Amino acid sequence: MSGATLERGIHAFKEAIDAPVASFFSSCVRCGLCAHACLFYTETEDPKYTPIHKLEPLRRVWQHEYTFWGRYAKAFGLSKPVTDEELGEWESLVYDSCTMCGRCSMVCPVGNDIAYMIRRMREGMAASGHAPEGLIGASQRAVTIGSPMGVKLPALQAQIRHLEQDTGLSIPVDVEGAEYMCLLSSMEIMNFPEYIGAIAKIFKQANVTWTISSEAFEATNSGVQIGVSDIAAELVQRVVNAAEKLKVKAVISPECGHAYFAIRWEGPNLIGKPFNFKVLHIMELMDQLREEGRLKTTGKETQRLTYHDPCQITRRGGVVEQPRNLLRMVAENLVEMPEHGTMNWCCGAGGGVSSNERADALRLKVFSRKKAQLDAIQAEGLVTACSNCRIYLEEGLEENNMDIPVTSLTETIAEHLADEGQTGAQ
Ligand code: SF4
Ligand code: SF4
Repeated sequence: MSGATLERGIHAFKEAIDAPVASFFSSCVRCGLCAHACLFYTETEDPKYTPIHKLEPLRRVWQHEYTFWGRYAKAFGLSKPVTDEELGEWESLVYDSCTMCGRCSMVCPVGNDIAYMIRRMREGMAASGHAPEGLIGASQRAVTIGSPMGVKLPALQAQIRHLEQDTGLSIPVDVEGAEYMCLLSSMEIMNFPEYIGAIAKIFKQANVTWTISSEAFEATNSGVQIGVSDIAAELVQRVVNAAEKLKVKAVISPECGHAYFAIRWEGPNLIGKPFNFKVLHIMELMDQLREEGRLKTTGKETQRLTYHDPCQITRRGGVVEQPRNLLRMVAENLVEMPEHGTMNWCCGAGGGVSSNERADALRLKVFSRKKAQLDAIQAEGLVTACSNCRIYLEEGLEENNMDIPVTSLTETIAEHLADEGQTGAQ
């Protein structure tokens, strides 16, 4: 690694230290409570996975550059600058062992948002060339192809044709003036296309007009995951351009955790202006339709079903009650895991961890926390609203020989839609 690249990284660290980051570092009382909120620490008991420790290089740059005593020490050669070797060592702490789930931020007694700090630190890591290959590839594909998994429009069009045949419903593309523009994650298009059929059925029953944009159908934002704001902003801008062109009143984020956080909460800040449309998660829209009496279901699942809260939707996104309202419509025996809702434990694969093969072994090891949660309630079925969670929950369950089916909340609701004339459950 050249000195210039290290310098670029340190410069990006300095830029990343905004007022919240600086105040978080100066407030930290080193109590260590955040360790016990992080599944990478609880499941390994390795102190290097303590959340605040993952930020050590950024903390040192803050100290050297922005504190009186740090500057004094630096001026007299009494402090040790951050080295390229150290950044190399921290790369796996910042990317492999952090899903940016935000659980640590919930327990910090002085209110430090550690997940936010990790997000900011990734800016410097990426600028200094210390980002995992898998994430670099995903971000490049997102910019050049429009999708982190390399899914192009013809692949989506082929899935749409199949779904239209299967459901007998039309799946609208580029319809100007539709109420809602639905985004999709590549993972949904390739692994769970049934989701697209499910929204088509739900919107038909609720008499909602909707469309997919051929120019911006991808929901995932690899720029946020890798920590490159320029890429993140470019991907948000594509969605904004498409929504404005189609004149929709709201953009609907699909069953993807970080996509929701990226477009709903980071989006306007990334492009530096408010949106002139709303952003809703598909669960928020379905719950709104339920409240308006436009979503009618029939029949109920009888097995012990539980809901896995995706971190970026529930804890970071504030969508807590809506999935439960919806599940109660179709589940007779809904049981909550211990520490559910805003204190739920991550699936272990968020924040770009799933795009980073190097992290696979650690991700599967820390699944022991989810296993314990599910064992505690003897769950017979698991429902979630993030396709990334879904795929990696399935993998974790399989590794642990746990025979628990994982389903999508939207698809579960679609399976129970009442036909015209049937009495709907509320
Ligand atoms: S919980 Fe908060 S105050 Fe305590 S060590 Fe972690 S970041 Fe610092
Ligand atoms: S954001 Fe989640 S994964 Fe990252 S350090 Fe905090 S608790 Fe651990």
